[in-house]
Amino acid sequence: MAGRIPQEFLDQLLSRVDLVEVINTRVPLRRAGHDFMACCPFHAEKTPSFSVSPRKQFYHCFGCGAHGNAIGFLMAYERLEFLDAVEDLARLTGLEMPKISGDDGGLSHTLLEWLIQASRYFHQQLREHPTRQRAVDYLQRRGLTGQIANAFGIGYAPPGWDTLSRTLRQHGATPEQIMSAGLASCDEQNRLRDRFRDRIIFPIRDHRGRVIAFGGRALDGGVNPKYLNSPETPLFHKRSELYGLYEARSRIRHLQRLVVVEGYMDVVALAQHDIPYAVATLGTATSTGHIERLFRVVTDLVFCFDGDTAGRAAGWRALDVALPFLRDG
Ligand SMILES: [Zn+2]
Repeated sequence: MAGRIPQEFLDQLLSRVDLVEVINTRVPLRRAGHDFMACCPFHAEKTPSFSVSPRKQFYHCFGCGAHGNAIGFLMAYERLEFLDAVEDLARLTGLEMPKISGDDGGLSHTLLEWLIQASRYFHQQLREHPTRQRAVDYLQRRGLTGQIANAFGIGYAPPGWDTLSRTLRQHGATPEQIMSAGLASCDEQNRLRDRFRDRIIFPIRDHRGRVIAFGGRALDGGVNPKYLNSPETPLFHKRSELYGLYEARSRIRHLQRLVVVEGYMDVVALAQHDIPYAVATLGTATSTGHIERLFRVVTDLVFCFDGDTAGRAAGWRALDVALPFLRDG
């Protein structure tokens, strides 16, 4: 990844960033001579051995050896990917990110905007649509309060072939954008058909909290499939995304453990019962991509699936996939 951003840009970025400021807003620092000190955020300690040098723009921990510049600090502390850390610092310093070869940044940006609009629309329908009561009843039967439903941005896709598409078109979206965002497809007569109709909607957020896809649960018992997700899009790759991970991380500053469950309702229902650290894969079996991602966030993973045959098979599979990642200790 690093090679895709010009070194000149990284140099310029790091020369503009003040590492002391970046760290101090997250870990309060105390001046000690030329440097600044704090208790290390990367290991448990009572006397400070974490030092930050404003001159060298480096941090170093004499206890655990953690060491790096502003990009490294954000990656370690906020658990960001390299590009995301660079982007955050660029925003902080007012530098414009360079165009990365092969990047479809423009398209992604546009799609993200329409996904936000769609998310607002679904959320509003849950409050205002004439047939909203069925959705509200379902959520209440599952024991959810309005507060939890809000925290997860739960919404309602009303019945009708193109209610969302029409709304987005009125706001200026092109049919191509609506389809690329995974919100609708085109029928033989070239009409847009919403993907989600008469369903409870669960926005799927990426690790930075941006809505990148949706999951929908059918309200009518006879409808197949009962659960439907957005298709693969330039933004949504279901084999590596985890529902609830962003929400868990934003609720708990230093997550110790994550519980992997089968579906969105499990995640939301556990949060309702004060277990706000569950995540779910999105209609796929646990993959190495998932495990890698989860182990970057916590060292303690619990898999909790249904007790039926399918659930047990999923449990064994998760164990198989996770074993190669285990290390001594
Ligand atoms: Zn340390």
